[in-house]
Amino acid sequence: MNSQLSLLVELQKLDLKNHSLQDQQRKLPERIKAAQSPLDEATKCLKEVTAAVAAIAAERRSSEQDLSIQEAHIQKLRARLTELKTNREYQAHLFEIELANKKNDALEEKVLLILERGEQKEKELEEVQVQVAEAEKTFTREKARLESLTSTLAAELTQLEQQQKAILALLDKSVYSRYTTLKSNFKVLVVVPIREGACQGCQLQLPPQLFTQVKRSDELLGCPYCHRILYWEQAIGDYNNLPTESGEKVEE
Ligand SMILES: [Zn+2]
Repeated sequence: MNSQLSLLVELQKLDLKNHSLQDQQRKLPERIKAAQSPLDEATKCLKEVTAAVAAIAAERRSSEQDLSIQEAHIQKLRARLTELKTNREYQAHLFEIELANKKNDALEEKVLLILERGEQKEKELEEVQVQVAEAEKTFTREKARLESLTSTLAAELTQLEQQQKAILALLDKSVYSRYTTLKSNFKVLVVVPIREGACQGCQLQLPPQLFTQVKRSDELLGCPYCHRILYWEQAIGDYNNLPTESGEKVEE
């Protein structure tokens, strides 16, 4: 096989891998952000529940204060009973005490309900605290994994660039410039195999004579329709200096 052609096939393979690695690298910050979102949500929930617990505690203090004021008021009313002269005054005062007692009961009931609500919220707070701790653990682990992936990708890219350089050193300048021009036109595959007599770039059937020439693999031939550089996959396997990865489908 023409060495320039096999170098081009290999270069394209490296370019595609490079493209895919860079794409993964670009998406990493987004993936870290996504991994953080359950923790952010749990933290937000924790803030809300903590605020609710504090609000209930304040409400309880204020209601307990109301209750003790009312209790003191009832004691005063009871103390005055002995000072009353007439039966009518006495009866009226008893009625006032009864009303005050009813209000006291209502206040007690209110305090109890607040205490119950407070207990429920405290329980909820404990649950949310556990959730936050778990989310934190998960995020720390995932972040570490993604950060290690960042350095793995960087190392792979460096290695890839060295392989690309090695190929470029062997590639004729004119061949490389033909390759880059095609690449800037098509963005995707520009060195394509022939399968069932058709160019795998544009899928059009090639003239039989061109097909035979491409199979011989001794020169760089372009598709007459899309101008991509053509090669015969089986020929790649015969070329000893390259890994035999022919037939591997590379996806953009
Ligand atoms: Zn074509």
